[in-house]
Amino acid sequence: MAPASTSASPAGSIACRAAHPPRRPAVNRLLAAQALMLASRSMKTTLTIRALAAALCLAGPPTTATAATVTCAPPAPDNAVVAPVLEILSPVFALFPQFRDILLNDVQQVCLADRLVGAKAYVETRDSRLVIVGDLPRGLAQAVLVHELRHVQQAATGVCLPQGLSMQENARAVFALEADATVASLVVAWTLRTQGDPDAWNALKTWPMQSDIADVFERAMQDTGDPAIAAARAFDQWHANHERRRAYYVNACLDYLDVQETTHSLPSYGTLNDGFFRALCFMPDGRAYRCVPPD
Ligand SMILES: [Zn+2]
Repeated sequence: MAPASTSASPAGSIACRAAHPPRRPAVNRLLAAQALMLASRSMKTTLTIRALAAALCLAGPPTTATAATVTCAPPAPDNAVVAPVLEILSPVFALFPQFRDILLNDVQQVCLADRLVGAKAYVETRDSRLVIVGDLPRGLAQAVLVHELRHVQQAATGVCLPQGLSMQENARAVFALEADATVASLVVAWTLRTQGDPDAWNALKTWPMQSDIADVFERAMQDTGDPAIAAARAFDQWHANHERRRAYYVNACLDYLDVQETTHSLPSYGTLNDGFFRALCFMPDGRAYRCVPPD
């Protein structure tokens, strides 16, 4: 797989199966979340973790992400809804044109929300919809959009959550997909910064859920000048933050339980293989970087 590939899936939509089936009733999800968290920490911590998880996207909408008003349109360049998104991303497209192709070829609907509770943006793989808050500051919007487009690219190129995994291994795959999308946003933001456009980088540096990863990436670039090394260290750092991992673990497990419930699946105990990581870990320029997630 070449992540710089601009080819769309045959149907022009995201190729992965829907990672997020219809949500189970809220009460059931809450009970499931409580059961998960009672296995580890207090309910107060649970709520904190849920808030942290919702601060960034997952592969699908965070459980708590709700919007008051959403306006959607196909990603045509002359569409009034999409044009501002394309304008914000124009510096990114100039350096990494594959993101323009991903947006135009692999996203069915671009949606602007007047607000999202618990998220700034997310991708719905089932409907190939990219939803983003419409009035984010320019740099933050660039960083968030690149992160989401990387998720779209992961799916369009067949890098999906494998079926048959254990719940723990499923969460490990979610961690890797998120860490890789974070790497993409850091590489793009860093490159924009070197071209005299620091908004996206400054947004990541000051975003509490991302700042530690940006710091690690920046130090690696200063020490080595090698984006592949910086990407690998950023991937590691994503996993190094305990609270971040716990936050995503809860959401990943809830989604895993949704799939089991809606498909009436038998328990599965599969493990991730190395091929998943070899297919996943590429930078926006198409070069591979080392990714060895913790067990
Ligand atoms: Zn994400």
